[in-house]
Amino acid sequence: MRVAQLGSGTPEIAVVAGIHGDEPCGVRAVERLLDDRPTVKRPVKLVVANEAALERQVRFIDEDLNRAFPGTPDAKTHEGQLANELVAELEGCLTFSMHSTQSHADPFAIVNGVSETAKDIVPQLPVTAMVETSNFAEGRLFSAIDTVEVECGLQGSETAAENADRLTRAFLTAVDALPGDTVRRELPVYRLVDVIRKGQADTYEVFVENFTEVDAGAPFAAADGDEQIADESFYPVLMSPNGYQDVFGYAAEKLEVLETPTAAD
Ligand SMILES: [Zn+2]
Repeated sequence: MRVAQLGSGTPEIAVVAGIHGDEPCGVRAVERLLDDRPTVKRPVKLVVANEAALERQVRFIDEDLNRAFPGTPDAKTHEGQLANELVAELEGCLTFSMHSTQSHADPFAIVNGVSETAKDIVPQLPVTAMVETSNFAEGRLFSAIDTVEVECGLQGSETAAENADRLTRAFLTAVDALPGDTVRRELPVYRLVDVIRKGQADTYEVFVENFTEVDAGAPFAAADGDEQIADESFYPVLMSPNGYQDVFGYAAEKLEVLETPTAAD
């Protein structure tokens, strides 16, 4: 784990990259901040988490770090120990953690409950949706630390790296660490309600768009040509043919749309 800081004092804000070693976009954003060294109004901790996995360009060494929190010092796995060290490092910090996916190019945020902090910060980020995943929080960073996660775009893409940079600067502006103003945008909020599993097969297909409602009775994916049909309507989130080993992704419900405050007359 690599830890650096912008500004002096004890940080209450942290930016975390490289929870997954095959998602380099966030690392680029952190390195750029370290190169630019912007003047900050509040100290910011910068963390590159799983350096061993990043070096090998793999998601993890022994187990998924974002399912290993809070971890223990004597854990048997690299990630179990690292999770414990990260929690100690991030204690007391509102944390911004960057990821990328194989499922969706547009950035979106992932939060553990629609808290006041989430409602305040996330609409100020250049994202198209907020996804609430408290039903599936176990082992994730935000089960241990107050965290806003963002999916920056497609894994390994230049666009994801550029998005990571923009998202980080928007976050740091929203929490008043960087000077300037953010744009507050209208934001749909989704809650993950179900995992969409996939059986063992040679080829996988997904027929639907993430965040676009799938009607009951519609085929939405297939394993070796065997179609899966929606029992009831749902919104697919993080759905991709090959992004995960055992699941296509998640089924979500749409909760609300956070409106932008109307201008005073
Ligand atoms: Zn990730």
